[in-house]
Amino acid sequence: MTAFCYGLAFLEFWVIIKTAMDEQWPIIGHDNVKKFLSGALKAGRLHHAYLFLGPAKVGKMTVAKIFAQSALCEHGEKGRPCGQCVSCKRFLQGNHPDISILSSEENTVGVELVRGLISDLSHSSLLGKARIGIIDGAHKLTTEAQNALLKTLEEPKASKIIILISENCLLSTTASRVQTVKFYLAQGSALMEFLRKEGLEHRRIQELVALASGRPGIVLEFLRNGDKIKEYRDEAQKFLSLFGETKPFNVFAFDVLGKDLERARERWRELSEIGTRVLREMLLLKLGLGDQTVYLSEMPAEKILNYSPSKLAFLINHLQTLRQQVRSNIDPRFALENFYLLIH
Ligand SMILES: [Zn+2]
Repeated sequence: MTAFCYGLAFLEFWVIIKTAMDEQWPIIGHDNVKKFLSGALKAGRLHHAYLFLGPAKVGKMTVAKIFAQSALCEHGEKGRPCGQCVSCKRFLQGNHPDISILSSEENTVGVELVRGLISDLSHSSLLGKARIGIIDGAHKLTTEAQNALLKTLEEPKASKIIILISENCLLSTTASRVQTVKFYLAQGSALMEFLRKEGLEHRRIQELVALASGRPGIVLEFLRNGDKIKEYRDEAQKFLSLFGETKPFNVFAFDVLGKDLERARERWRELSEIGTRVLREMLLLKLGLGDQTVYLSEMPAEKILNYSPSKLAFLINHLQTLRQQVRSNIDPRFALENFYLLIH
């Protein structure tokens, strides 16, 4: 589904409600980003276009929404939203008339959708401050769609702000016209502190932090839906099965990742990310540090017996190289075949 809509998922709503109560933005991690954006709000020096760049599920969209709320708040000069003014109330109701969000579940975001957003931004602000457009998944913008944005990006107006949210770099013509804000994986300590405040017990916190690998969005998914943890464990088991698989490798790669290329990219991203974690745990087990494992604590460990620590370290590095190559457009099934050949 593609949408020009504005609404709040339950957990976003929960996080944003707390914003009005806390002194600082209650985003998990990203201290530098919070400091930079709240500083710009306090100084009244907002850029006309931002690129929030970083891995999936680290909190880019949540930050974008709180930033938008703050920028439109009648008391936004405090660097955070007040939660009380008309603008904040409309935001918290999920129907702010000056915020447009373009998001799409399709593999690409085409020029027509971008033109629709530009048209939204061309109107005057209804509540008097500015219009803000957020494009989620900007890495899916087609070249034509990015070109359509250029004119808007080239003509800065104080009354319009565009926030592009992307997991990958954009065309240089687009990137050179926006203020890039980089997001990194959250520190484990930030996730632990958040979960401690939620009242979780220590072993449970350790498990969730290890499974989430620095992504607050995954921690929130776990809290909302206990089945998610099982999905992650199943995925880890699939990765581990690579080590005992006997099918011809090319058939295997298509079996695991599927025939549709875009879907295969998504599957590869999930599998290789969890695979990196599993390989690290295999190394820990090999080094006698099994008490620090989460995935392998509930899995048979005999599959690692034939792998030396140096071989496991090599596989971890090679998997990172393959992840980079898939991001640069090689076929993920080729990457999986390559990895499969290395472990057999
Ligand atoms: Zn306000």
